[in-house]
Amino acid sequence: MLLTGFTTAQAQTPDSFNYCDEKFADIQMLRYKVDGFEDLSLKEKTFIYYLQEAALAGRDILFDQNGRYNLRIRQMLEAVYTEYQGDKKSADYKAFDTYLRRVWFSSGIHHHYGSEKFEPGFSEGWLRSALASINYTEPECIKGQDGKASWEELMPVIFDANVMTMRVNQKDGEDLILTSASNYYAPGITQKEVEEFYANRKANNDPTPIMTGMNSRLQRDEFGRLTERVWRVGGMYSGALERIVKNLEKALPYACTEKQVVVLKRLIEYYRTGDLRTFDNYTIHWLQDTESRVDFVNGFTESYGDPLGMKASWESIVNFKDIEATKRTERMSANAQWFEDNAPIDARFKKPECKGVTAKVITAAILGGDLYPSTAIGINLPNSDWVRREYGSKSVTIGNLTHAYAMASQGSGMSEEFVVDKATREILSIYGPALDDLHTDLHECLGHGSGRLLPGTDTEALKAYSSVIEETRADLFGLYYVADAKMLELELVPNAEAYQAQYYTYMMNGLMTQLVRIKEGGTIEEAHMRNRALIARWVLEQATKDAKGGKPAVELAKVKGKTYVRVNDYKALRNYFGKLLAEIQRIKSEGDFEAARKLVETYAINIDAKLHKEILKRYAKLSASPYKGFINPVYKAVRDANGNITDVTLDYTEGYAEQMLRYSKEYNTLPLVNE
Ligand code: ZN
Repeated sequence: MLLTGFTTAQAQTPDSFNYCDEKFADIQMLRYKVDGFEDLSLKEKTFIYYLQEAALAGRDILFDQNGRYNLRIRQMLEAVYTEYQGDKKSADYKAFDTYLRRVWFSSGIHHHYGSEKFEPGFSEGWLRSALASINYTEPECIKGQDGKASWEELMPVIFDANVMTMRVNQKDGEDLILTSASNYYAPGITQKEVEEFYANRKANNDPTPIMTGMNSRLQRDEFGRLTERVWRVGGMYSGALERIVKNLEKALPYACTEKQVVVLKRLIEYYRTGDLRTFDNYTIHWLQDTESRVDFVNGFTESYGDPLGMKASWESIVNFKDIEATKRTERMSANAQWFEDNAPIDARFKKPECKGVTAKVITAAILGGDLYPSTAIGINLPNSDWVRREYGSKSVTIGNLTHAYAMASQGSGMSEEFVVDKATREILSIYGPALDDLHTDLHECLGHGSGRLLPGTDTEALKAYSSVIEETRADLFGLYYVADAKMLELELVPNAEAYQAQYYTYMMNGLMTQLVRIKEGGTIEEAHMRNRALIARWVLEQATKDAKGGKPAVELAKVKGKTYVRVNDYKALRNYFGKLLAEIQRIKSEGDFEAARKLVETYAINIDAKLHKEILKRYAKLSASPYKGFINPVYKAVRDANGNITDVTLDYTEGYAEQMLRYSKEYNTLPLVNE
């Protein structure tokens, strides 16, 4: 029996749309289809048009946030790309071409996921001669950020492996600020200085604390004192923010509801003032607006790029509700209190009253900033703990993106190579994509929103481990409930066994296949990858221990010399997920930094070299790419003689490089140096 809510969002029938585009390095570019756009009203289409302009206008901000030289490097590389007349078949040129594609993809010179600096693959000598051949000079205004002549100082940034090695360094025991290349703190500022600066500025005992430091760069004034440069109109990143505000204002008359007009006005006010209390007010209006068909995220949002998890990178997504598929998540959110009451965690950590849990399935219309080209498939906002506690949160699953992923993964060979046997492969192929979506829904819609801190617990007690612990918590919540009888009752799964697909995939990914994203000798750096490793390895260790030499619930088994995950007891697996959830919730609720540190350092970072080597070797034979991202569609406004928009059309034919070059030209909103 397949249920409507179960099938609509993820009907896996192949269609003629070209989901896969070009490949380079470890990247596969995909396209997403904006199904249903044509059926929207002209008002809604026009609204989307201006919002997508606002989404694209912030692109330069992320480049600068990811590294202080990124905008200069991008401009320099693009000049070579468009003007170079030399041999384009040479190995150097080809490596250069790949490098630029990677820089575009990552919005900077570090890997978008692992955060390590790219190895150029072409020589410094080649780049120098290419620059000479096109007579490249930087604009006069740039006298060199570090006192050297012009682009000379970019050379070590690109070629010296010891300069700006990691965008986000999270190595325990090192100065995370000094050793991270992300541009949230001026060079030379230490972690200790940052922590003291913000400890002094945080209002103690404020029950509604603003997210201090979220929207600024910390730097020194002329006396060497630390000071915040706020990202606002008239402040840092003003050029981009002015352009965003201008388009938000143009969008205003087309807002779906009166509520949404207020949302937009608050956001504009916040961008103008940089005031974080206004930002909180904006997010409250935003999360309470559940009726508007068209919705958006536009702002400084997630803090994965700051080693201390405080400063937020700029991102945007514009979307509209997939009404049919949303029925699925509505059944879930309507029962939020039931899930909270029945969670396998200590009663002290449960929310007595789940407020404002809303969830919907959306169709992405445009991706921008930190959601482009690599993107999330689910989002739960806002991030402020007190706003979530008092007002709830809005959570989305992005249906047309998960659909594109599912379509693209067909025929990658991953399942044939890494899944232990035919029976398991069958379960995965029947239930895999839908259960993935369900897990995402649970993670976003209920997981992040569940539980509460004990009174007096500092919201930032877990420091550098907070992102990993929070993602672990949301994932475990999803894993625990995906196997619950309630899923059948709510008609979210077709039968009582479908959850096995999610359990198997999760363990396989956490123990083995996600490692294809990491180079030999590396460690796990990214928060979501760490959380998956933490869960899978902790469960494997417990299961091995409990088996006392017998058959464990889950094991790494060797078949014909190859390693596979084998699950012997799915029900027992669920108990382990529940047990770990209880502990993770305790850690978060009590702010137990030491326990968080120990779990993450023990299970989430280091890699078994032998297993890693084997996985990489098996993976290399497949035609799959470990990372994927999306090329945006192009929106065009059709106007009458008076300039009024009479229609908005969509085009899917723009190429990747073409799109990136156009964005650099049309959405060139910031100076090359912003400090
Ligand atoms: Zn999450």
